[in-house]
Amino acid sequence: MIVEKKHWFSLSAILLIGAVFITFGLIKRKIYGQESPSLTAAGNSPIEKPLIEKPLVEESKTLVKKTGAAFPVGLQAAAFENARLKNTLGWTFGAKPQSGWNIYVPLIQQTIGTEAEAETPEFAQSVFAWQLKVGLAPSGKIDGETLLKMVEWWQSRRLNSSRYPSSEELVSAPITDFYDPTRDSALLQIERETYNAYKKMLAAAAKELKLKMTKTGELAPDEKYLRIISSFRSREYQEMLRRASPDSGRAGLAVNSPHFTGCALDIYVGGEPTITKDPNRALQVNTPAYKWLVKNAARFGFYPYYYEPWHWEYVPNTAKGN
Ligand SMILES: [Zn+2]
Repeated sequence: MIVEKKHWFSLSAILLIGAVFITFGLIKRKIYGQESPSLTAAGNSPIEKPLIEKPLVEESKTLVKKTGAAFPVGLQAAAFENARLKNTLGWTFGAKPQSGWNIYVPLIQQTIGTEAEAETPEFAQSVFAWQLKVGLAPSGKIDGETLLKMVEWWQSRRLNSSRYPSSEELVSAPITDFYDPTRDSALLQIERETYNAYKKMLAAAAKELKLKMTKTGELAPDEKYLRIISSFRSREYQEMLRRASPDSGRAGLAVNSPHFTGCALDIYVGGEPTITKDPNRALQVNTPAYKWLVKNAARFGFYPYYYEPWHWEYVPNTAKGN
């Protein structure tokens, strides 16, 4: 018994020292992200095999048994750390300093397969299982390294192209699909398959979210949610947007936009349609519309851009229909 206790004590000490080193290491860590079609967080190799997003709690228990892994500081302690880190973890987006990962909780929950709140032991358990799955040292905490890996995974599912579609590949959607009823008729084009997938997704969402619809299955004029804000953009139009907003910088309007493909849609999920300020994004990620998209859009081939809750990309080759 005494020997075992000693072993446990030494192990705890080693883990504690390790945790201190990791924490210091993370202070300098930076996470880059951008709305660019290169799609990998800078300095990171893309993830090749898909990471499972099924509910993991049961699976994690099996994994924990199989690997003999144990929480170094306990589930409850990891949960306390997550409650702190979700608002304070320092990282950067482009050159912009970011604080915490609260805005990404719905995406994180989906990725690790839990609906538990970020400050609960259940959430920490699912983080732990995901870390084991992706080869990170499991801690149950969303630290810088874990957030970076998640960003890398989210980015890996996006469009890997800024290819211009031919005119036959584009359709002009009716203005009734758009958020702005006065939108220029030259700005209503969408890649054909993307539009079909959007309409299917909209029909499913309308039922489940009880959106206001017309008898013919269109969004009612006073329904704003899931309307299209922006779809296909030409290079010329993107340049004009950039000139109109010169301060947006690297983290703002990209030189190479996924909107060039006609397969990227900005969809209304609440708040100010496309404002990246934290309070606006925090509001958006808590709307039923956004939460529904996080859970269901992949069934229709749409994947999110984590930094912009309104930006979704149709990537049919990764659509699994699950
Ligand atoms: Zn967009």
